[in-house]
Amino acid sequence: MARKQIVILGGGTGGTMTANRLRRHFDTDEAEIHVVDRDDRHVYQPGLLFVPFGLAQLEEIVRPRRRQFRNGVVFHENEVESVGLDKDEVLLDDGTTLPYDVLVVATGVRLQPEETEGLTGPGWNERVFTFYSPEGAEALQGALERFDGGRFVVNLVDMPIKCPVAPLEFAFLADWYLRERGIRNKVELVYSTPLDGAFTKPIASDRLAGLLAHKEIELVTEFNAGDVDGVGGKLGAYDGRELDFDLLVTVPLHSGAPYVERSPGLGDALGFVPTDKHTLQTPAKPNVFALGDATDLPTSKAGSVTHFEAEVLTENVMRYLADEELDPGYDGHANCFIETGFNKALLIDFNYDTEPLPGHFPTTVGLPLLRESRLNHLGKLLFQWVYWHALLPGREIPGIGPAMPNAGKEQATVPA
Ligand SMILES: Cc1cc2nc3c(=O)[nH]c(=O)nc-3n(C[C@H](O)[C@H](O)[C@H](O)COP(=O)(O)OP(=O)(O)OC[C@H]3O[C@@H](n4cnc5c(N)ncnc54)[C@H](O)[C@@H]3O)c2cc1C
Repeated sequence: MARKQIVILGGGTGGTMTANRLRRHFDTDEAEIHVVDRDDRHVYQPGLLFVPFGLAQLEEIVRPRRRQFRNGVVFHENEVESVGLDKDEVLLDDGTTLPYDVLVVATGVRLQPEETEGLTGPGWNERVFTFYSPEGAEALQGALERFDGGRFVVNLVDMPIKCPVAPLEFAFLADWYLRERGIRNKVELVYSTPLDGAFTKPIASDRLAGLLAHKEIELVTEFNAGDVDGVGGKLGAYDGRELDFDLLVTVPLHSGAPYVERSPGLGDALGFVPTDKHTLQTPAKPNVFALGDATDLPTSKAGSVTHFEAEVLTENVMRYLADEELDPGYDGHANCFIETGFNKALLIDFNYDTEPLPGHFPTTVGLPLLRESRLNHLGKLLFQWVYWHALLPGREIPGIGPAMPNAGKEQATVPA
């Protein structure tokens, strides 16, 4: 076949895995693989959770992006300006155009704290923080060290967010941290969420609400945050309720990348890319695929999801180029460790049709599901090594793949 041009937008979790997997498959005379990202800092985002508590430092979780690519992947450090679906080309902000035979969208989400009134006003990064950005996580570390008591509110503004369990993990770790410092009795810890429970899925939501109660963390539900007074210490909801705080840690609104909105036919009103649930091809055009946080898929925005999607997506890019039928093999599989403090973690595993269930993963003798254990905590810590050395380079992980395993689960699956 003539040499194909594959252009991948975004060199984060999904873009890097996809580029390396495709590079392993195609020789350089078969395909040119281009990746575009605006910067050269690849952040291991699950590590951001640990930075505020001094359990990780930024320099341990950030690596040069270009060094994560296999030889022969062409990296463009540049901002994507727009995609011309009609001409099959991408425009970069320095005026370069990249023509493609196949386009892969992997540009993740954009944080939009400025969309919540007052959030980035006076008090931002002084008593109002987010740990969802490297700078925010680092600023929060200093604030937590100085914090000596009062009302501490952890808030999630609205769904969807990446890693929907991360704010819960933050609340659990805050409880641990304050107890370690001997000041837990001087702190009212509050978890406020727009959801009607601690989490989206019923069985996991009950377990997690139980853990919040056990750790004396107040759960405030259906709280749709609308405005923040960072000086007066008030978080307001659209229904008129108010939460007072001395320290606010929030997860801001998320949307898709702005260039998606500037590219007619590519995205929806929020800038997410409509994507086929099973093949990861987009309805925009048959030669455009998407994965990770950038899609509109009804599963969690998570690195594990992005990994499972990458396996199906790369197979489908190969099949598309070979004029073969696509593999509808992605089932919505997601797998998340939930750090609960005191060197323990829960594990949840689910897909489009099956909610997180108790049991073991991946088989009857694996890691405990929906139950706190040290083994899960070690799994969470070990994962960073797996990320840099196996996932990003595009290596297979035996026994862990796109299809959700059922063997260790205690209850039958819920039909679609
Ligand atoms: C605090 C926190 C904790 C998390 N914990 C977990 C966890 O425990 N487990 C888990 O599975 N997941 C976790 N996640 C989620 C996980 O990190 C993401 O779901 C995953 O990184 C998504 O991969 P992606 O490739 O879609 O996006 P990203 O990895 O975010 O990559 C997107 C890339 O696109 C680039 N980009 C965007 N727009 C443009 C543009 N216009 N031009 C050029 N480049 C652009 C960005 O610079 C970025 O590098 C966590 C996330 C956070 C924030």
